[in-house]
Amino acid sequence: MRADRISIRSLDETHARRVKAALKYLGIFCAISGTTWLLFFGRDTNQVLFTANALTLVAGVAAYQLTRLGYTRLASYILFSLVLVVLGLFCLLLDIPSAVAPRISHCYYLVIALCSYWVYEYENKWLRYGISAFALLLFIIFSSSNFALETTYRIPEDARVIGAWTNGFFATFILCAIFYIMQSDAVLRMQYSAEINDALYKQQFELFYQPQVDSASRILGAEVLLRWHHPQKGLTSPMQFIPMAEMVGLMVPLGYWALTQACQQLAKWKGTAFESLHLSVNVSAQQFNEPDFVEQVKKIVKSHRIDFSKLDLELTESIVIQNTEQVIAKMHALRELGIGISLDDFGTGYSSLSYLKSLPLNQLKIDRSFVKEILANELDAKIANHIIHLAKDLGHCVVAEGVETQAQRDFLFNNGCELYQGYLFSKPLPLAEFEQYVQSRQSLV
Ligand code: C2E
Ligand code: CA
Ligand code: CA
Repeated sequence: MRADRISIRSLDETHARRVKAALKYLGIFCAISGTTWLLFFGRDTNQVLFTANALTLVAGVAAYQLTRLGYTRLASYILFSLVLVVLGLFCLLLDIPSAVAPRISHCYYLVIALCSYWVYEYENKWLRYGISAFALLLFIIFSSSNFALETTYRIPEDARVIGAWTNGFFATFILCAIFYIMQSDAVLRMQYSAEINDALYKQQFELFYQPQVDSASRILGAEVLLRWHHPQKGLTSPMQFIPMAEMVGLMVPLGYWALTQACQQLAKWKGTAFESLHLSVNVSAQQFNEPDFVEQVKKIVKSHRIDFSKLDLELTESIVIQNTEQVIAKMHALRELGIGISLDDFGTGYSSLSYLKSLPLNQLKIDRSFVKEILANELDAKIANHIIHLAKDLGHCVVAEGVETQAQRDFLFNNGCELYQGYLFSKPLPLAEFEQYVQSRQSLV
């Protein structure tokens, strides 16, 4: 595939789309199989098999409909659990190996093993490996034994021969289709990875600066935000490429690149009119979780001979709720160096008061989703107000993000907010424009 055809859609989005399509096809396949078996056996067979066939039909239709309605996860649970059970019943009651035809139904356990591994690729390891391992175990048991339960009904041997060929063909076909999809996922991942590496090498990334102002409209600093000058797509938002960088494990070098650039800029501003500005750098969970994160930050800041207190790191709630002891230790180490720590997007995640009091934070950033509705929605106004008081009670500073109107700014100010960031003051700007903006505002103060 040529580079210009690579979409910037994230891999998990592509994966979710494919899983949806696969579950729909599997649903249709189950519905058709269930119907075929019901027609083939009629009501002649024993009660257990009749129920199993009817359930296969119902589960297939349910999985198809649920997937169509967006309940993909539920559809997958129904499909996998039911197929595991129904296949077992077939193997034990009907598909009993003989001199004429081998057992074949258990081959679908291989399909379940591979399919569930792929469907749950971005889920926790229990889901990812659990169903696969169980399906493989059943495959081994049924391929290595003739074990069967007594039943009065027997499928005619010539029908079993046809079934062996047909099911062998279908199981192999589905396995090949899943292999093909997994292979193309791997190729896509490699392309993303190559594209981001290339962008880093060719210096296609740039930092934009969004001013942070106090209640007297003085500019205290800026949050630095990544932008990608994509050769085909033009200026690209981090919302598009960060999930992709995380997926291919390149958010760590990209994060250090942003930190290094910010430190370089702080160093350049030394002895100029911009000397008093500080910069806030976003840190992803992947980067923060690196064992030597604190050491790396220390090394980068020291190599630029800048004051640690000029730097703020913005962490999200998803970082601080995981692995709390280690996280707190790292945060303390950063604070001891003199680096400021902000809790970004506050209120959108797991905001538990118990963790909040134990964290060595400097400031909370009220997420812009609350600020947006602060005048229209009474609940959002209450939440924003509550966050401001909570931050103050804990001795932290509070920054409101996404302030777009004077009315929002005034409301926040009247409720005790001290720092603001948003389009009302400025959009994120390239360096030269940011410096111009600061100069023009300084001459006003
Ligand atoms: P964030 O940290 O919440 O950054 C604030 C986002 O809100 C920025 O989006 C900014 O452009 C936008 N914004 C600021 N004021 C306003 C406003 O008044 N109205 C509206 N509608 N939007 C406003 P941006 O630049 O697209 O960044 C999106 C996210 O990408 C950031 O959200 C941050 O999570 C992430 N990001 C950006 N740069 C980096 C980076 O260097 N490292 C990491 N780990 N994440 C980054
Ligand atoms: Ca941020
Ligand atoms: Ca934010």
